[in-house]
Order: sequence, then structure tokens, then C-alpha cells
Amino acid sequence: MTEVVIIGAGLAGLVTAYHAAKNGARVKIVAKGWGATHWSAGTIDALGYYPDEKSPAQNVFDSLDALTHAEPNHPYALIDRRAIADAFAQFAALTREIGLPYEGNATKNLWLPSPVGAARPAFIAPRAQLTGDLSRQQPMLIVGLRGMRDFYPELIAENLSKQGHAARAAFLPLDTITARHDSNTVQLASTLDDTATRAKLGGALKQLVRAGERIGLPAILGMNVHDDVIGDLRDATGADIFEIPTLPPSVPGIRLNTALNQHLQKLGVRVDVNMQVTAFHAENGRIQYVESETSGRPLKHRGDVFVLATGGILGGGVNSDHTGKTWEVVFGLPLAAPAQRTDWFRTRFIDSQGHPVFRTGVRVNRDFQPVDANGARVFENLYAAGGILAHADAIRERSLEGIAIATGTAVGKATADR
Ligand SMILES: Cc1cc2nc3c(=O)[nH]c(=O)nc-3n(C[C@H](O)[C@H](O)[C@H](O)COP(=O)(O)OP(=O)(O)OC[C@H]3O[C@@H](n4cnc5c(N)ncnc54)[C@H](O)[C@@H]3O)c2cc1C
Repeated sequence: MTEVVIIGAGLAGLVTAYHAAKNGARVKIVAKGWGATHWSAGTIDALGYYPDEKSPAQNVFDSLDALTHAEPNHPYALIDRRAIADAFAQFAALTREIGLPYEGNATKNLWLPSPVGAARPAFIAPRAQLTGDLSRQQPMLIVGLRGMRDFYPELIAENLSKQGHAARAAFLPLDTITARHDSNTVQLASTLDDTATRAKLGGALKQLVRAGERIGLPAILGMNVHDDVIGDLRDATGADIFEIPTLPPSVPGIRLNTALNQHLQKLGVRVDVNMQVTAFHAENGRIQYVESETSGRPLKHRGDVFVLATGGILGGGVNSDHTGKTWEVVFGLPLAAPAQRTDWFRTRFIDSQGHPVFRTGVRVNRDFQPVDANGARVFENLYAAGGILAHADAIRERSLEGIAIATGTAVGKATADR
């Protein structure tokens, strides 16, 4: 049985682990902390805009074809279109299996309200966000809790109205769901796991909603019994309910992370978080083990195959200094990066071509094995997946989770096959 050690517990690491374990490998994840799922909206963004932010992807797969044709080094260009579609379909099936079903429009993006009421493209989304799809012609009542931090229903409704969507705002007192004066989103979501609290919220919402409206609430609708919360609020109000993502911490992202981790444990995957990989040992071009810090002595993690899923500049897998030097933090891999500090950013803050620094990352071959500038494989048993890969401007493209899933699926299967 192949032993796979994955460094990083973001979406790329978790998806790689799932496919490696499903395909018969023994898998261990070692990570410094949780990944960016805790900060992002909890949706899966495959490709929102291409070639620039003025060009929304109408058919995601046609835009993917255009992107991979124009940018042959892009991570998506290393996988064929059918395998990318399969990876998303398998991820959607996995979300059903873990009780947190994600859905979408097959080839078209959903357009979901952002925390400020802008329309945001997402390829697939948890069911609770789906009902907020702005391509549906149904008026919206956006409800906030007075005193809750960072959620402004009036701003959201006003911005939605300006874009031609019927929306109005309303407030409920925070003590509808909690006696605490200051709670974060995770604490608020946990209060709604309690049946009596959500019955109180349901009763209050029923007083506000008008016939035909759907109700948008901050993404705090339950931590552990999310489906029950949605179902109970729908029954109490007679209206469709949807969640609007909040600023971090992101409850939908944490729900996804928790459910994936629980499922991985059932598959026998070991997940060790709070373990930063600080060193490695290689012999004859093969990595023998990586080391993580503990309070005592460094811990060695041995394996047949290693996967780097450390998330690049955002995740901490790539570091930099004021001189313009950039480096990959675990193996010191060669990076594709701007030659000097002055090349990191274009002169305009919002530039339609993006900023070169965000494309920094590890170059890989078609098997997702890191290579040097001449295309030679660096280690015989090392792979990379997700945000650590070079040549994508994933925030501008709105492709971060899509790249994590497509490449994690490919790498998980490849490592198990060895
Ligand atoms: C603030 C923020 C906002 C974001 N907003 C969006 C958004 O709006 N839309 C969008 O599509 N995406 C967004 N993302 C990004 C997106 O969610 C992820 O980057 C993407 O899912 C890629 O995941 P990943 O698994 O490659 O990396 P990450 O999720 O970044 O995970 C990296 C993992 O590697 C671990 N790690 C790093 N270094 C080490 C080390 N030395 N040893 C051990 N472990 C290590 C980290 O602890 C973490 O577990 C956002 C990310 C951040 C940080």
C-alpha cells in the first residue's frame, strides 16, 4: 500500500487525501493550520471571469478552453476538459455523501450576493446559498441582526436594487438569537443549533416577510445541524431561505472543512494540524521524510510519496522579503516568480492584467511533479496541488477552489496509483 504524506490541510490537501485514500493509499496530512476555507465564502469558484474582470465566464468550460489555449502553463491546462468536469462532479458527489450538498447550473456560473450585495460568480455552492442565485426573478428580503458585526442588510439591499434585483432590508434585535452583546459568526451559528432559538428566529422572520419573497440572512444558519436550521426556518416562514457569506470567520467554509475532515477520518486518513513542516531529508533524488516541529524534538513523517499543498503566497507556502526574493518554504523548490521586486505589481492598483506576483508558484510537469526552470523533475516522489502551483492569477480569475479541486483530484489519483 502506498504511503502518502500531504503537507497542507486546505481544500487542495483535503481533496488530494480523499482521492488517494479512495484509491487505496494510506494517507497522512501534516499541516501548520487549517486552510483558507475558514476565510472564503464556502463556494467553489471554478472560473468566474476570463480574460479579464469585465468578461464573466458565460459557459465555464468554454472559458476554460480559451484560458488553457492562451495560457498553456496554467494549472488547468495540465488536465483535459473532461477530467476537470469529472473532478467537479466527483466533488459534488462527495458533498452529498458528507451531508453538505453542493449544486450548480452544470456549465453556467451561479451569481450570488456577496457580503456587500455585489453579484459574485460561483460554479457550485452549498444549497443554502443557491436560493440566493440572482438569475432567479424573486424579490429578496435581506435580514440582519442589529448589533451583529460586519453585516449590513441596507447596503446589500441597496446594491442589489441598483443592479435591478428587487430587494429590501430589515433588522431584528440581536437578542432574538443570543443574550451576548458581541459574538462572532461561529458563536452566532452555534446558537441556532438550538431548536428553541431557531423557533424564535422563525417566528420573528414570519412577521417581516411578505408573500413571494425569499429571505437572505447572514451565513450563521447553524454550525452542526445546518439542514435542520434551514428546514425549520422555511417551515416557520413559508419562504425560501438563503445565506449570504460574511466576513471571516466563514461559517460555510468551516462547515465544509469540518465535514470533509470527519469523512477523511472515516476513510482512515490521519490529519495532524498545528504541525509546521520545517525540514526534509532526501536521498538519491527521493524524499525520505519531512520533519515538523513539536514541543519536544522534531517529528519525522515518512512516506513513499509526498504532496505539497501549502497554498502559495496566500497559504504561506511561498514567502518573500523586501528585496524581492521569494522562496518555497518546505523544500526550497525553484519558483516561477517575477525577477525583481519592481516587477511584482503593475502601476495601476486595479489592472485588468492582474499583478505578476500573484502568479508566483511552483512549476510542475503534466504529472504535477515540481520541475526546475529546465523542466527537469526535482524529486522523484514529490507532487504539488492547489494554490502553490505557478501561472494562475486565481483571485482575479475566481478559480482558487476550482484549481484546488481539479489538481487535488488528479494528484490524489496519481499518488495512489504509484
Ligand atoms: C483571506 C483569504 C480570502 C480568500 N478569498 C477567496 C475568494 O474570495 N475566492 C476564492 O476563490 N478563494 C479565496 N481564497 C483562497 C482559497 O480559499 C484557497 O487558496 C484555495 O482553496 C486553495 O487552497 P489550498 O489548499 O491550495 O491552500 P490553502 O487553503 O491556503 O491551504 C494551505 C495549507 O498549507 C498549510 N501550510 C503552509 N505552510 C506549511 C508548512 N510549512 N508546514 C505545514 N503546513 C503548511 C496551511 O496551514 C494550510 O493548511 C481566499 C484565501 C484567503 C487566505
